[in-house]
Amino acid sequence: SVNMRRKLVAGNWKMNGSLVANAALLAEIKAGLAVAACDIAICAPAPYFAQCQAELAGSAIAWGGQDVSAHAGGAYTGEVAVSMLQDFACRYVIVGHSERRAYHAESDGLVAQKALRALLAGVTPIVCVGETLVEREAGQTDAVVGRQLAAVLDVLDAADLARIVVAYEPVWAIGTGKTATPQMAQDVHLALRAMLAGKNPTAAVEVKILYGGSMKPDNAAELLAMPDIDGGLIGGAALKAVDFLAIVAAAR
Ligand code: PGA
Repeated sequence: SVNMRRKLVAGNWKMNGSLVANAALLAEIKAGLAVAACDIAICAPAPYFAQCQAELAGSAIAWGGQDVSAHAGGAYTGEVAVSMLQDFACRYVIVGHSERRAYHAESDGLVAQKALRALLAGVTPIVCVGETLVEREAGQTDAVVGRQLAAVLDVLDAADLARIVVAYEPVWAIGTGKTATPQMAQDVHLALRAMLAGKNPTAAVEVKILYGGSMKPDNAAELLAMPDIDGGLIGGAALKAVDFLAIVAAAR
């Protein structure tokens, strides 16, 4: 079957950058960008949304956040509301990244509320799921990612399903240089798409499922060639313009 999904390459800058460093990185990316065959996004720390908007508006590159509050607003010190992302024209927001789940004790239910909050505001949530090494070795991969995705599917209207992006990020592959083999990733992507199909078969064909975890220029093409891998969520390699551009070029 022909895969009609346009790929998405999304950079996740994590807690990196500065006004000066971002200006140089964005300029280099913009200068090196050929006509892209894929969608492109950069998920930046919230203090740099204005800079991303100023530098990227009118370009082929969208921008977004790395987290969003489950609340609309009010007495939640330190949190960022989706209305604030919208003020800076963020198109995407990552929710449920494994670093948020691990270091900030975000539950499946909270991640689902964040995804819903973003979706209802028209900001596309990039919903991250992934197993730890212990869970993989115990044969629990499908159960873990299934539980994580189910929590999100439970709160969404079936009609809205095509408006989310899913990212499969095995925790053991993030920032470690260890990548899932293309077949290992494909197997999980296929299982996730089957779950999505249970909620809305038509939408499941449209939903982009990204791979994340040490995607680099030298492994991107083979991962992106798999039938259910629709792009990448890129951490370390998104901080180097040449690497990010090479991954974008591999996504077609
Ligand atoms: P990495 O990070 O590419 O540095 O492994 C990916 C991510 O955490 O989104």
